[in-house]
Amino acid sequence: MPDAITAKTRIADLPGLNPRLVERLSAFELRTAGDLVRHFPMRHERRLAERTIAQTEKEVADEQAVVRVRGTVAAVKVRRGRGAVVEATLEDESGSARLMWFNAGWMRDKIHPGDTGVAEGKAKIRNGFLELGNPRWIPDRASDEAEPKAPKPPSAPAESMDRLRAVYPASEQLLSSEIELAVGKVLQPVCATIEDPLPSEFRQARGLIALAEAYRLYHDARDDEDVAAARKRLAYDELFLLQLGVMMRRAQLRSRTRAIPLKLEPTIDQHIRARIPFTLTAEQDRVIGEIAKDMGEPFAMNRLLQGDVGSGKTAVAVYAMLLAVAHGHQAALVAPTEILAEQHYAVLRNMLKGSQVRIAFVTGSNTGAERMERVAGLATGKFDIAIGTHALLESGIAFRSLAVAVIDEQHRFGVKQRAAIRQKGQGELPLVPHTLVMTATPIPRTLAITLYGDLDTSVLRGMPPGRTRVITRVVTPEKAPEVYAYLRTRLDRGEQAYVVVPAIEESDLGLKDVANHVRYLQEGPWKGIAISCLHGAMTREDREANMKVFRSGAVQALVATIIIEVGVDIPNASIMVVEHADRFGLAQLHQLRGRVGRGATPSLCVFLGDAVTTEGKDRLAAIGATDDGFEIAETDLRIRGPGEVFGSRQSGLPPFQVADLTRDAELLGQARQDAKEWIDRDPELAAAGVAALKHKLMLAYGKALGLGDVG
Ligand code: ADP
Ligand code: MG
Repeated sequence: MPDAITAKTRIADLPGLNPRLVERLSAFELRTAGDLVRHFPMRHERRLAERTIAQTEKEVADEQAVVRVRGTVAAVKVRRGRGAVVEATLEDESGSARLMWFNAGWMRDKIHPGDTGVAEGKAKIRNGFLELGNPRWIPDRASDEAEPKAPKPPSAPAESMDRLRAVYPASEQLLSSEIELAVGKVLQPVCATIEDPLPSEFRQARGLIALAEAYRLYHDARDDEDVAAARKRLAYDELFLLQLGVMMRRAQLRSRTRAIPLKLEPTIDQHIRARIPFTLTAEQDRVIGEIAKDMGEPFAMNRLLQGDVGSGKTAVAVYAMLLAVAHGHQAALVAPTEILAEQHYAVLRNMLKGSQVRIAFVTGSNTGAERMERVAGLATGKFDIAIGTHALLESGIAFRSLAVAVIDEQHRFGVKQRAAIRQKGQGELPLVPHTLVMTATPIPRTLAITLYGDLDTSVLRGMPPGRTRVITRVVTPEKAPEVYAYLRTRLDRGEQAYVVVPAIEESDLGLKDVANHVRYLQEGPWKGIAISCLHGAMTREDREANMKVFRSGAVQALVATIIIEVGVDIPNASIMVVEHADRFGLAQLHQLRGRVGRGATPSLCVFLGDAVTTEGKDRLAAIGATDDGFEIAETDLRIRGPGEVFGSRQSGLPPFQVADLTRDAELLGQARQDAKEWIDRDPELAAAGVAALKHKLMLAYGKALGLGDVG
């Protein structure tokens, strides 16, 4: 007798599978029984048992399905042209249906008026008719000859009952039905070996079915309820495991490191406020309260600050940094781009003019003696504040006493990168800085919990005073001349404009590029206007110089690439034009728009674009419909789907297979709550009976989350 089938059994050793199929499965990375069971269907197709045409029509009215109808062919029509269309009318005593074959001239000889038989295929209602697209036609006489020559699918099981059929991720070489066949051979025995990492009372309290049952039903569902129950359990496990990981990491950070407590005293508060050139809003005060409370503790703050573009996050960050300096320690601010680092540097220098506080500016472009001097000054404590790009996170840079690190993020990067800044502390129980991560754009709550699950969150709502609403227009590219002509009248009144194009240099992609667009504007609609440019291929000095003249008002228009996306703050700029807007992501468009509306002049943002894809259309519609960053973030998640937004490459986390952040928000909340309670009870998952769970966790997230090597 052959060995019992387990998850480890090689597909090649399974009885009754064609070796050629085994090869193709292997080419698709399906090599063991376990691979098959973990290869989840991407959807389920409804298959109806044979019914009369009228009954089938009723069933299909709500939801498409693969159906089976029997009848007599009343008429056959052939439409020629590009790809012949064969259309047959099938009748039974209850009604009639339309059978359509596209690009299938050969069908014309296979079906004739008067024939009787069975048609089987995907059906929907069109123009009030039940219509089957490219169905299988099985005439009553001569059963086989009329079938298409396509690879013959394995015969479907009993047709006497409605059922669901799993549709798998497949390819041209490997059909979903073939995967279905292979899964069928291993599903029962493998499921019999699956142990459930969750205790049964725990499951029952949350309405979760057993894990083995979930696997079985997901592959072999009878109805929608089966699919829903299986999906819920599998999605819960994915969400719960990640939450366990982030909660465990949080607990480890607390227990294995310490931080310098920075108490906020009234005199310190007064001194800091005296340096900030405006009165903080109530929202900023509230968020600063949350931050200061954390920073007063002897363990490190780990906080995410979310706020829309222009909501005033910088002042909050400055406050946190000055709190460290007031206590005689150092602070660092890491910006996503040099331009932004430069701007932060200028803002801080301005605020701290005439004070004792010394600031070092450190980016990748510093070299030689200049760099040595700055790096040495951070180590000796000559500098109180370091501002720079990710170059600040490099291992060569040490601080005398770094108490606060602020990370102003452009890209969502994972816990792993965030850990780098923590290496900057020293001591036996490693001393780590309080960390504040600021997102450049708001992200949906579900995503925040997933990507930043190890952080506490503060949300800065609303806008500081002095901002004006930005009027947004989405227009097609033919209107560009009109747009530029109108904007010309505003430039003549002294306003300043950004024009964003997608390319630096001319290429055969047919995209507007910086140099040509500057020329176009200078020679055409904006003749006589001083125009400058900004892009990533320029040296830092050139960029700085161009920014400076634009900021001074001597230059009125700046043609730039997306490089100005993040953070740039020039109040007199009140016009933004984005060429090829359909090519930019929704969050990017929102960021770009956030560059204007920062001064007293009513601002205008024009997106020139003509979307070819549905997604592009959705993005342009969304950006025109709202200017609320939190709403935009939710829409972005819906349009792109969590896979993209989740950005597993960026976050370093494996993507979810079943869980879907757009529909599983509630389940995620439950999983987070459960994980928190679990880790509070058993921070290292050391209790009896959870070894399997811990093993699974370490395998999935141990490395990405740095579990076990905190500090
Ligand atoms: P973001 O959250 O996008 O980083 P910033 O911190 O750059 O936003 O702030 C946007 C603008 O609002 C800046 O010009 C800043 O000086 C101004 N600002 C911030 N807070 C206040 C406030 N309390 N009162 C007046 N202006 C403020
Ligand atoms: Mg900012």
